[in-house]
Amino acid sequence: MPLKIAVVGVGKIARDQHLPVIAASPDFELVATASRSAGVEGVRSFPSLAELLDACPEVQAVSLCTPPAVRAGDARLAMARGVHVLLEKPPAATLSAVDELARRAEAAGVTLFASWHSRFAPRVTEAADWLSTRQVRAVRIVWKEDVRVWHPGQEWIFAAGGMGVFDPGINALSIVTRILSEPFSLTRARLTFPANRQAPSAAELAFEVAQGAQIAAEFDFLHPGEPCWDIDVATDDGRLLLSKGGAELSIEGAAAPGAASADPAHPEYAPLYAHFARLISEGRSDVDVAPLRHVADAFMLGERIEGPPFSF
Ligand code: NAP
Repeated sequence: MPLKIAVVGVGKIARDQHLPVIAASPDFELVATASRSAGVEGVRSFPSLAELLDACPEVQAVSLCTPPAVRAGDARLAMARGVHVLLEKPPAATLSAVDELARRAEAAGVTLFASWHSRFAPRVTEAADWLSTRQVRAVRIVWKEDVRVWHPGQEWIFAAGGMGVFDPGINALSIVTRILSEPFSLTRARLTFPANRQAPSAAELAFEVAQGAQIAAEFDFLHPGEPCWDIDVATDDGRLLLSKGGAELSIEGAAAPGAASADPAHPEYAPLYAHFARLISEGRSDVDVAPLRHVADAFMLGERIEGPPFSF
């Protein structure tokens, strides 16, 4: 029997990925949505999760697709009712909130999945396997996209807690924390804030890996044209390039052919939902704050540079 699931926050990512993936999933059945101004045809919709849970006690799981700063309250509400929770990334606006949610999930005996969709990109596991037998010397991350294309009109993303360019940049950090076996820590950061905004539009970061390698990252949210989501890793035994956000892999400049994705329209979210179903069936949670910790470090350590005002 598929698990009865509700989606909270019917915005861009819910429509682009969550709803179609749930519709095609053998593991889940969408029974309701909660969103202040949107819904899904043919599905019961409610203005808030509280009203949804009161009206639909059959709901067993929720996917929280709202912005990170408003997600923790709904996660607490769901878990208090014994409902399993999938958090979109970044899992919350603070590290403490995620820790608290993880403790609550354990106490309530429900699954909490702090999802990192980029870790499910088709070539990420192969990249991690290839790197696991090599010594990393240097990593260069270039993560550039146009916020107006990928987050049209999303004022929340430049508000306090919206994280600005770290909203996409954290995807790169979620991959790098997955593919490198050694931990790393921030040594320098320069963050550019538009003069009229509370969150940065660009970031330059430098990290040191425990065994001495360096990581340089360049994030830009005002990049016109084609996005660039590349991670380039030099090792003692060749060079690996993970490009297109983990969709493509090349080794020493030659494309490394891989198996076709089972769901080419949703190559990350189909396996992400399969993982959520597996966690629930095994009675486990999956909460890794490592990518969010690096973002928090950047806000703590970063030099602040003022850039021109931004408007959508
Ligand atoms: P979005 O289009 O703004 O959708 C979020 C929805 O949450 C809104 O449509 C809104 O629906 C609801 N909401 C509830 N409280 C809100 C508040 N205080 N402020 C703004 N919206 C509120 O954003 P999104 O692109 O779907 O992103 C949501 C999350 O998914 C983010 O954490 C983002 O990092 C992640 N994500 C986004 C993408 C992408 O390509 N855009 C990709 C992967 C992951 P109502 O007004 O109907 O309540």
